[in-house]
Amino acid sequence: MRKPIMAGNWKMNCDNDEACKLACGIVDTMAAPGEAEVVVFVPATALTTVVNCVEDSPIEVGAQNLFWADKGAYTGEISGRMIVSTGARWVLIGHSERRGRFGKLEEGWTEAHVAYFGDSDVTVNAKTRKALEVGLKPIVCCGELLAERQAGRTDEVVGGQVRAMLDGLSPAEVAKLVIAYEPVWAIGTGEVCDAEEANRVCGVVRSVVAEVAGPAVAEGLRVLYGGSVSPDNVAGLMAQPNIDGGLVGGASLKAESFVALVAAAAASV
Ligand code: PEP
Repeated sequence: MRKPIMAGNWKMNCDNDEACKLACGIVDTMAAPGEAEVVVFVPATALTTVVNCVEDSPIEVGAQNLFWADKGAYTGEISGRMIVSTGARWVLIGHSERRGRFGKLEEGWTEAHVAYFGDSDVTVNAKTRKALEVGLKPIVCCGELLAERQAGRTDEVVGGQVRAMLDGLSPAEVAKLVIAYEPVWAIGTGEVCDAEEANRVCGVVRSVVAEVAGPAVAEGLRVLYGGSVSPDNVAGLMAQPNIDGGLVGGASLKAESFVALVAAAAASV
């Protein structure tokens, strides 16, 4: 039995006061999450604040990115050890908003599909290795663009991203990951992927993990779905056998809706 996870991605929202209010709101309204794990990925500036706010609650805290070196001339970047020093225990890696698509604006793509930060399969792998080295728990993201789905390339794109993120990792290291399948066209659009199709692609993720790290690791690995998850659609997603939780943007920014998602994850066990 895989323990479900409900993870909130606050993106670039919440200054320290707002972060404290939101975190306290979640703590105050959330019943015991039972068998579900709850993580909030908060802006780097709010890590310490939120870690303090959720102390003594079941909520865990993560950063939204890390750099693959320990220190040095990387102005503006944040190392894994810096994240650990805040008390956060998780890190999000390779979110589609950070993956690079530079110079490739093609038909069907919008501005939203052209990432600003240039993460590639190679840097996502380097960041994943570093996260594991410093003891952070990574949620690593994959997902296809609308144009790739329309071209029938979903499995190829997602499979390729998963193979690349796992490159060079031992089965024991792969077992420490959580993978989030997030179709890019479903993120922040209100257009959720059909639950059965999301389940199918999460199954593709699991089968690639099985090829790389063996069936036992694949069976135990948690695969989340992300993309316009809301209290209205979460039950159908959580009912799918290959979906072990959600990575949620918009609906994680209000305590009430996030707590409803946590309850749905807990009820799915
Ligand atoms: C996300 O930020 O990873 C995400 C899935 O956002 P939203 O839930 O708003 O689609």
